[in-house]
Amino acid sequence: MKFGNAFTLGKLFGIEFRLHFTWFIIFILVTTSLVAPDYSRWQNWIIGIITSLLFFASVVAHELAHSLVGRAQGIPIQSITLFIFGGVAQMTQEATRPGDELKMAAAGPLTSLVLGGLFGLLWFLFPNKPEPIAIMIFWLAIMNGALAMFNLIPGFPLDGGRVFRSILWYLTGSYRRSTLIATRVGQSVGYLFILSGILIIFLRLFGSSWLDALSWFDGVWLVFIGGFLGSIASASYRQIPWQETFGDHTSSASSPDLPVPPDSR
Ligand SMILES: [Zn+2]
Repeated sequence: MKFGNAFTLGKLFGIEFRLHFTWFIIFILVTTSLVAPDYSRWQNWIIGIITSLLFFASVVAHELAHSLVGRAQGIPIQSITLFIFGGVAQMTQEATRPGDELKMAAAGPLTSLVLGGLFGLLWFLFPNKPEPIAIMIFWLAIMNGALAMFNLIPGFPLDGGRVFRSILWYLTGSYRRSTLIATRVGQSVGYLFILSGILIIFLRLFGSSWLDALSWFDGVWLVFIGGFLGSIASASYRQIPWQETFGDHTSSASSPDLPVPPDSR
C-alpha cells in the first residue's frame, strides 16, 4: 500500500505522522454527520469538530500502540498515516517470530478497548453533564469499542487476521502456510462485505424495511471497504514466498485499521 499523496505533520515518539489527502473527506463526512440534522447552531459545529478530532486522535492512539509495541520487538516502523478508511501503521519489515506479531497486532484493538472503557467510565462518573457533552462521550465510547471489534475480524490484513496468522504460525511453524490461510480468510471477508453492501443498496432501492437502520450510503461504503480489504489480502497472498524464509519477511508491510464510519449517527 502506497500513500503518495500524504503530507507529514510531524513526529510522534520518533515516528512520522502523516495525513493522506483523502482523510479530509472522511473528516468532513464524520463531522457533518455529527452535526446533523441541526446544522444551524454554531455550538453544534464546535462539538462536532471536537468529537471528530477526538475520534481521529483515538485512531492515532491505536496506530501508536501497534507501532510502539512493534518497535519494542525490533520491527522498524516507518510512519503512521490517517486516510479515508481509517489509519495505517507502515513498517519496513514483517515480524520474524509469531509471538512478536501477536503482541504487535493485539496492541491496537486493546488500546481501542481501553479508550472505549475510559470514555464509558467518564460517561458514568459525571451523570449531570450537559447533553451535547454526554452524547459526545457516549459516541466516542461506542466508536472505540467498534474500532476494536471490527479490527478483530480474523481476516488478514486486519489486526484479527494478524492475530489469527500468528497463532497458526505458532502452531504449524509455517509462516507461509499460515499467511496463505489468513489471507484467504481476508479475501473471503472482503467478498462478504461487498455482497452485504450490494444487498443493502438493493434493499434501500426497493424500499424494503429490512435493515432500515442502514442507508444506501452505508451499502456503498461497505462495498468500498470490502474491495479495499480484499485487494490488500490478495496482494499479500501473491507476495507469499514459495519457500520458508525465516527471519526475512522484508516485504514492505502495512497494518491498516478500518473502518472509519462515514455516516456515524
Ligand atoms: Zn490495528
